[in-house]
Amino acid sequence: MKIGFIGLGNMGNPMARNLAKNGHAVKGYDVVPALLDKAASQGIARATSVADCVAGSEVVITMLPSSPHVRSVYGNESGVLAHAKPGMLLVDSSTIDPLTAREVAFDALAKGVAMVDAPVSGGTGGAEAGTLTFMVGGEAKDFEAARTILAAMGKNIVHCGGSGNGQVAKICNNLMLAIEMIATSEGMTLAAKLGMDPKVFAGIVNTSSGRCWSSDTYNPYPGVLENAPASRGYAGGFGADLMLKDLTLVTEAAKQAKVPVLMGAIAQQVYQKHSADGHGGKDFSSVILQYLKT
Ligand code: NAD
Repeated sequence: MKIGFIGLGNMGNPMARNLAKNGHAVKGYDVVPALLDKAASQGIARATSVADCVAGSEVVITMLPSSPHVRSVYGNESGVLAHAKPGMLLVDSSTIDPLTAREVAFDALAKGVAMVDAPVSGGTGGAEAGTLTFMVGGEAKDFEAARTILAAMGKNIVHCGGSGNGQVAKICNNLMLAIEMIATSEGMTLAAKLGMDPKVFAGIVNTSSGRCWSSDTYNPYPGVLENAPASRGYAGGFGADLMLKDLTLVTEAAKQAKVPVLMGAIAQQVYQKHSADGHGGKDFSSVILQYLKT
């Protein structure tokens, strides 16, 4: 298919490359010229603007930093919606708040253009390997149309319900992940400071009721798991600032839904402090440094 891809950053570049590898004709656009050059050298045709990227495309995919970027790229007078034609499918894979996702999809629908939100989990590693999980919100028929294209970039493609529900799944999962990572950090640090060998303690937790993904797959204590970011100085992985961004989306969405997220609000503040301490670029499991240093 003819696919326009807007936002060729850490995630967008490998995603666009996987589409091209799977035989799609991909035209890409980014506001950073160096990223356009890089993509052009990797088989992605160069678009000169958002409008140029949309023109002639059957599907347009966006992978942008946050809600204001999505509003602007879709909504402004030279944006996606101004140039989209009925019959075209729009897919936003950025992580944004569910309300913005629903508003933009509603505006698209008013122009007769189908749109789904399809945020991802799996990080840059999953984007490179084409093994991302896509959480898709939108009409069933639009999900079916999107599924074949998303399959070039991901392994698990899940219909989460109506518009915005992909974003709901994404941010609520990350709410649970952040809380669980902080809980693991507290438990691991306390056990070590009270005299236990962290590896022995992790082994007990991982066959006991404290077990979770953060303890058995991504343990934040250095040296416990060879392949976890904790054992390579918290380099790579999922950035603490990206987790902070998702927790901020959570607390905003919770405010709108009038749902208390007490632990989520604390987690958001812990990550805000962690970022202010200069750790935002490290993997999110580095949040344990807030405890280990005391
Ligand atoms: P990134 O900042 O590397 O890429 C975003 C790109 O969008 C940048 O290259 C930027 O120049 C471009 N952009 C911004 N405004 C634009 C505009 N008006 N027109 C065209 N291009 C524009 O970010 P990323 O790490 O690729 O993340 C993208 C999205 O995916 C975010 O919403 C993020 O939360 C989400 N996400 C990221 C990861 C990860 O591990 N990096 C994992 C899951 C989800």
